Amino acid sequence: MSEDKYTEKVTEAGCEGGCDSPKTIRLAGVVRESIVDGPGIRFVVFCQGCVHDCPGCQNPDTHDFNGGYDCDIQKILDAVDENKLLDGVTFSGGEPFCQAGRFIPLAEEIKKREGLDILIFTGYTYEELIDMGKKDPDVKTLLDMADTLVDGRFILEERDLSLRFRGSRNQRIIDMNETRKQGHIVLAEEYMN
Ligand code: SF4
Repeated sequence: MSEDKYTEKVTEAGCEGGCDSPKTIRLAGVVRESIVDGPGIRFVVFCQGCVHDCPGCQNPDTHDFNGGYDCDIQKILDAVDENKLLDGVTFSGGEPFCQAGRFIPLAEEIKKREGLDILIFTGYTYEELIDMGKKDPDVKTLLDMADTLVDGRFILEERDLSLRFRGSRNQRIIDMNETRKQGHIVLAEEYMN
């Protein structure tokens, strides 16, 4: 989804599988500070498991739903809270909407923290998510909590290294708050260079 890599696990111990917390996310890893996964300085959560199989994907290790490790969301929040310079948290992957229900408690906690917004990278289009949300309330709830959505599959033929926050030209950076307010898709034009 982005050029960045999930270089780090959240903690050295206690969060690398076998976690029995009721609130876990299947993770590939995290990046504690990124300036390429959305506006400002961001904590990035790379989830594990993706259904899209885009040719040329930068993160093929995240595709297998049996890979990665279960991580208690409290450990992610503790790592977020350690960094007062953060502007937001990015959910990437993998495909976050494949485990929408697991991301919701994390998103709810991030929303309680003043000054942090939520950006979600997804291989689904916004329109697909709206349709999915009619059958799956977790998809709708998570979509409703996004401030920014970078949507659509990575298409190798439309790859463009000059783009900010997205890998291929078909992907859109959607201002979700304006989209909800205006009732139609509003792009975050300032980032759609
Ligand atoms: S949606 Fe993202 S993680 Fe999944 S295959 Fe496509 S580029 Fe890779």
